[in-house]
Amino acid sequence: MKRHTIQAALVLETVNKLQSHATADEVYQEIVREHPHISRGTVYRNLNRLAQAGEIRKIELAGGADRFDHLCQDHCHVRCEKCGRVFDVDMDFVSGLEQNIRDPRGFRFNGYDIIFRGICPEYRKLTR
Ligand SMILES: [Zn+2]
Ligand SMILES: [Zn+2]
Repeated sequence: MKRHTIQAALVLETVNKLQSHATADEVYQEIVREHPHISRGTVYRNLNRLAQAGEIRKIELAGGADRFDHLCQDHCHVRCEKCGRVFDVDMDFVSGLEQNIRDPRGFRFNGYDIIFRGICPEYRKLTR
């Protein structure tokens, strides 16, 4: 296990506890309840550092805040089109898709994200 600063350990622990693909702001809000002196910048910086180190995964979404996932292996997500929350999808990740690329046009492909669109059960309940 790698050594962390106290702040990084706290941020990592919070992402692991929330398990909700939280935004940086949600992680900050959770931490600040018990650690009122931690700054937003510290939380954001440590989230990005932990993601770079591969200890958590950053999910970048078009038109939405980045989210942070405690699960680092490839897996599929569904994003609610109404509330914007992100959930894991219970299926095997389809690996090797890059082998279907006919002409890589000089690219080296490093991976991909599979993000379904949908409407979450909470929202569907509200609109029934
Ligand atoms: Zn929703
Ligand atoms: Zn996930």
